Amino acid sequence: MKVGLRIDVDTFRGTKYGVPNLCQLLADYCILATFFFSVGPDNMGRHLWRLLRPTFLWKMIRTRASKLYGWDILLRGTFWPGPVIGERLGNVICAVSAAGHEVGLHAWDHHAWQKRIDRMDRDEIYSALNKGVGLLERILDRSPVCSAAPAWKSNDRVLLEKTRFSFAYNSDCRGKSLFRPVVAGNELAQPQIPVTLPTYDEVIGRYGISQNNFYDYLLSLFDPIKLNVLTIHAEVEGMACLKMFSRFIKQAQSRGAAFVPLGTFLEDDSTIVTGTMVKTKIPGRDGWVACQASITENRNVSYFSGA
Ligand SMILES: [Zn+2]
Repeated sequence: MKVGLRIDVDTFRGTKYGVPNLCQLLADYCILATFFFSVGPDNMGRHLWRLLRPTFLWKMIRTRASKLYGWDILLRGTFWPGPVIGERLGNVICAVSAAGHEVGLHAWDHHAWQKRIDRMDRDEIYSALNKGVGLLERILDRSPVCSAAPAWKSNDRVLLEKTRFSFAYNSDCRGKSLFRPVVAGNELAQPQIPVTLPTYDEVIGRYGISQNNFYDYLLSLFDPIKLNVLTIHAEVEGMACLKMFSRFIKQAQSRGAAFVPLGTFLEDDSTIVTGTMVKTKIPGRDGWVACQASITENRNVSYFSGA
């Protein structure tokens, strides 16, 4: 059973500490994965201002955010400008690539994208992607293989702008199967590899799931006859949850799970269908995420205006 392993890196701290930790762990278990890097300014601490919103405050308490992420992540970019991650930690990104992992673009400014995507026009989206791709190209001396929209915030404008780059695929949404998005009646060449499994922060504190049994729950969701794509975070599994994640990997491998970079799924392109993305709410996540529309909703419908 193949399980696509995607590692999102959102912050300076996650890049500096979480990524090397995960690289070591993956080497110990002979696993290759896909890393999606945020390379521009780390302003993730601006999320702290969202404490003013009750649902977000509850989530921070529920996941014990300060313990999970560290206060320096939560404050980053709030009182001083955030550091440009790729300029300071390019060596970490190079090491990931040299170890044989797939490297993709997550964000230029993760926080700005999450907050502003609904208001960003095509030029702004292109500029954010271009800055991220440009810096990754300078670091790696080649283009990033793929991309993944921050916080699964994507729309038709994003999909169209991504076609201007040489991404072999994108992973911008939640869903169940590989698909080529249809935008304004046209099927785009870049396939989507959706994330099929929930993340730590979405589930913890719900349904009787705690940090002690989260990874057992995750194992119970693996399905040998379906697409399995898991997202972990350098800031979570690479740091506070590193030991638990290591146990989970061992257990999953003993049950026959083979963790692979997401690009591996493209080897059999007969499984790629066409589809569209819709905005949806998922439990445990603030705001909307892009989600693969179900087959019945798919027919020639574009849910995002202004593409
Ligand atoms: Zn992210």
